[in-house]
Amino acid sequence: MKSAIVLGAGIVGVATAVHLQQRGWSVALLDRKEPGGETSYGNAGLIQSEAFQPYAMSHNWRELTNIAIGSTNAVRYRLAALPWHVGPLLSYWRHSFPASHARASAAYAQIIGCAAREHESFIRDSEAGNLIRREGFRILYRKHSALKAAVAAAENLREVYDVKFSTLTPWDLMQAEAALTDAGVGGLHWLEPWTVFDPGGLVSAYANLFTRIGGHIVRGDAQSLSTSGTGGWSVITEGGRMEAEAAVVALGPWSPDLLKRFGYRFPMVRKRGYHRHYAGGGRLDLPLYDAANGYVLAPMTKGTRITTGAEFAAPSGKLDLTQLACAEQAARNLLELGRPVEPKPGFGTRPCMPDMLPVIGGASRHRGLWLHFGHGHHGFTLGPTTGRLIAELMNNEAPMVDPFPYRPERY
Ligand SMILES: Cc1cc2nc3c(=O)[nH]c(=O)nc-3n(C[C@H](O)[C@H](O)[C@H](O)COP(=O)(O)OP(=O)(O)OC[C@H]3O[C@@H](n4cnc5c(N)ncnc54)[C@H](O)[C@@H]3O)c2cc1C
Repeated sequence: MKSAIVLGAGIVGVATAVHLQQRGWSVALLDRKEPGGETSYGNAGLIQSEAFQPYAMSHNWRELTNIAIGSTNAVRYRLAALPWHVGPLLSYWRHSFPASHARASAAYAQIIGCAAREHESFIRDSEAGNLIRREGFRILYRKHSALKAAVAAAENLREVYDVKFSTLTPWDLMQAEAALTDAGVGGLHWLEPWTVFDPGGLVSAYANLFTRIGGHIVRGDAQSLSTSGTGGWSVITEGGRMEAEAAVVALGPWSPDLLKRFGYRFPMVRKRGYHRHYAGGGRLDLPLYDAANGYVLAPMTKGTRITTGAEFAAPSGKLDLTQLACAEQAARNLLELGRPVEPKPGFGTRPCMPDMLPVIGGASRHRGLWLHFGHGHHGFTLGPTTGRLIAELMNNEAPMVDPFPYRPERY
């Protein structure tokens, strides 16, 4: 029986572990925390089947100036942290030119197109249907020019990918969301995405499925990974040393740090985003993205969750509550938000590769070492799909999509 240690129990690692276990491998899933406790917890819970194009970096000087002078809440940065980000951001900038972005989108569309189907089989097998809504999410705009541009972009996507949306007048939006006290100039309703009431809970359900089909979850530090005497890989867990033929690095934003020890340098654009729940106020029916202020309001099990846009902070930098405070203020103008549930907000880090595509495949200089990370803004959507792809590659099966665009050697 083939064996693997999957490092990291976020959505990406858990999905990899399930797919390998389903193929008859003996799999241990290692994390220093409970499954789904980091980035895969603190997100907006959108399974974004409409996101056929990855987020490019803006080349619009007005938008860049707004970021530079701090007048947009969607993207913020800390001056002292910029040295960590400059290199990967320059590469991201280059890859965001139309020709490169079109190439990335062609590959992205292949995996986004499978995302809902792959989640569906996990949801069914893990009996997690009660955590899911299949009615899309909405976007609210505050300027007519922004709404017009968004409708034009959505019409383009509809033409190419046949995605479904409807436009909303302010009246439509107020009718759909009784808790709203302001509907801006109206918005869009993406009709096909799914939304999740408890993203960490969904990852836990998938992890329970993994143990039910014979997988093992172990606690330990992935930094203990080393080659074993028998030509495989070993880690130190709370229960002692563990060995396997293969190891999969699925540590999300922490992946490049571990791989440095093995001589691999992966540039990563790390976009922090904050989250907090609020209870006792009005409740939205579906998640709502406030485009002008760059945050999502999502109805979750614990209350209404705010998740913010991107902050470029130092990797171990402290919380800076400016972005969340601005989002909270804007949200309070839209609905009665209630009081914060947690004493302190949390944050997660979107692990974005400069070319906007995840890294999926075998390490070039180490046999049995597999890499699976860098899912950026859509890891929660993509985990089960790319989990299948890497399991197929490891198991020598015909891959579901062409794996070439995601190959690790491109870095
Ligand atoms: C604010 C915000 C909103 C988002 N909204 C969405 C959304 O609506 N839809 C969507 O598709 N995506 C969304 N995303 C992106 C998505 O959440 C991420 O792409 C995804 O969660 C990444 O999953 P992962 O498994 O790669 O990483 P993680 O979930 O971070 O998992 C990595 C795991 O590695 C473990 N680990 C790290 N180091 C070690 C170590 N040394 N030893 C042992 N274990 C270790 C961690 O404990 C963690 O469990 C959002 C992200 C943010 C921040």
